[in-house]
Amino acid sequence: MKRKLLALSLAIWLAVSVGGCSQAQEKYSDSFDSMDTLMQLTVYGDKGALEDIRDRIEELDSILSATDKNSDICALNSAGAATVDSAASELLMKANELSRKTGGALDVTVYPIVEEWGFISGDHKIPSKERLAELVKSVGFSGVKIQGESVALPKGAKVGLGAVAKGYAADEAELILEKSDSKGAILNLGGTVVAYGSKNGESWKVGVADPENSAGYMGYLTCKDKIIATSGKYERYFKGDDGKIYGHIIDPKTGIPVDNGLRSVTVISDSGVTADGLSTALFVMGREKAEEYYRSHKNFDFIILTDDNNAYVSEGVADSFKLEEGHEYTVKTVK
Ligand code: AMP
Ligand code: MG
Repeated sequence: MKRKLLALSLAIWLAVSVGGCSQAQEKYSDSFDSMDTLMQLTVYGDKGALEDIRDRIEELDSILSATDKNSDICALNSAGAATVDSAASELLMKANELSRKTGGALDVTVYPIVEEWGFISGDHKIPSKERLAELVKSVGFSGVKIQGESVALPKGAKVGLGAVAKGYAADEAELILEKSDSKGAILNLGGTVVAYGSKNGESWKVGVADPENSAGYMGYLTCKDKIIATSGKYERYFKGDDGKIYGHIIDPKTGIPVDNGLRSVTVISDSGVTADGLSTALFVMGREKAEEYYRSHKNFDFIILTDDNNAYVSEGVADSFKLEEGHEYTVKTVK
């Protein structure tokens, strides 16, 4: 199952560049599995930066993974309290802030419910109403205590950073690039894309996955120095015995996979944690609340694809988003 999911997530983004040729920097690429997905890195002009980014992603995975028994997050989940690496405490703080801002739409303490539905083991099942009601009681980031690198969870709680870890890795990769000799890089961290600088002076073209056919893309964004993250239930899902499709993004208030007419949410931001965390949170909120959130914050842009073939595009990226030929979406600009 994981392999199949990996293949799907591979197709989430097609990141290509527009040509340009003056004083071309040499291109270095690498791809590897980490954070339960495929990482595809291309860095121009600095092979050492490429190596440092891979090392840092692998290190972050060993700290942040909720399934690796030796990770800091696993130690925290099994003991209920632990001193963790600063990357883990910093990311927990950021997740907490996003949780507060989004009214709990993003909440990394939803992890035991994600496990219960079988999205971690791959052994999917529909939990009983009673079991979900019990588990929902221990969800709520406000009960998590963080003091420096010491973290304590409320009784019965566990955290999983799947909704934000790739965004954090994206931010860390960008820091490495900023200190390097590279003038451009395109990193696809399992669907969270870092479009750094330019490809020898030209903007990057980042494909937006077609949720109906994740091997293709329905449009693309032309951008520079942005981090772009997509959440969609098509990335991980199963069909229940009742014939319904259950996706991996869970409403923390009900413990049930979100089913609100959205196909995917893409968030474009200067910050990876914001892009990754908000793509998940806005998916949970639904279109109208997501638009309200956008109007009151405006520090990001979005592309929301809905089941009725509309593409809602926020005004900041309206001009840089282009629909790919042959796609049925009606593009609507959101101000
Ligand atoms: P993403 O692909 O970034 O949208 O993250 C989705 C992953 O985060 C899921 O596979 C779950 O492991 C976890 N998750 C699901 N729902 C939530 C939620 N409401 N808040 C935080 N994490 C979630
Ligand atoms: Mg996310």
